[in-house]
Amino acid sequence: IMELSKIDFLTNLLNRRAFYDALEAEKKRTLRDNWRLSSSNSCVKNCDNSFTAHPEGKFLDHFGRFSCVLIDIDFFKKINDNYGHLVGDMVLKKIGEVLNSKMIFRENDIIARYGGEEFILILPETNSINAKTPTNRLREYFKTIDFFDEDNRSFNVTLSLGISEFNPKDKTNEELIQRADQALYLAKEQGRDRVVVYEENF
Ligand code: GH3
Ligand code: MG
Ligand code: MG
Repeated sequence: IMELSKIDFLTNLLNRRAFYDALEAEKKRTLRDNWRLSSSNSCVKNCDNSFTAHPEGKFLDHFGRFSCVLIDIDFFKKINDNYGHLVGDMVLKKIGEVLNSKMIFRENDIIARYGGEEFILILPETNSINAKTPTNRLREYFKTIDFFDEDNRSFNVTLSLGISEFNPKDKTNEELIQRADQALYLAKEQGRDRVVVYEENF
């Protein structure tokens, strides 16, 4: 059972502090996996004493890797301005519900409210390219939800998402989050309602 001090009241997701604890644990686990990888033989010895590459070809797409996702609601200020703060809060609650429902993300994915209308995820054993699949699923699903204000006017909400991948050479957790933030910035700049993966040559 989750401690209340770790949970954001409005969305029922982890709060920022709990997120940092979970990120630290995932980072340590991944660094251990990387160490195991480097100290193990990644080839298989054949009967004739020749070597072939590891048979589990996709193994390295997952093992020792994880991704970070920043989610930001598009034009959230306008939602508050047009329909009022309570309706804005309802949108935040709904995104918490969707993220918590596990209809989109995995059981052991780490999902937190990062700030006002921003959310942050850690997807264990997922590289940044593979992270595009569930994040796009979330983006596509969320914009189909019809919201209603007090006067029964309906509106829809889109999300922008930025993805970065853990680099064992990172010196701080901030570097990982910074890269996701840069990708998110680009998603906004390119017109919102999209997923952008961080690339070195941004
Ligand atoms: P962009 O598409 O560029 O992200 O535009 P935006 O309007 O979403 O971004 P901006 O950062 O200008 O506005 C974020 C708004 O989120 C401003 C703030 O009042 C609102 N907000 C933050 N926390 C809460 C909250 O808990 N409840 C409500 N209703 N609004 C919140
Ligand atoms: Mg924002
Ligand atoms: Mg926003």
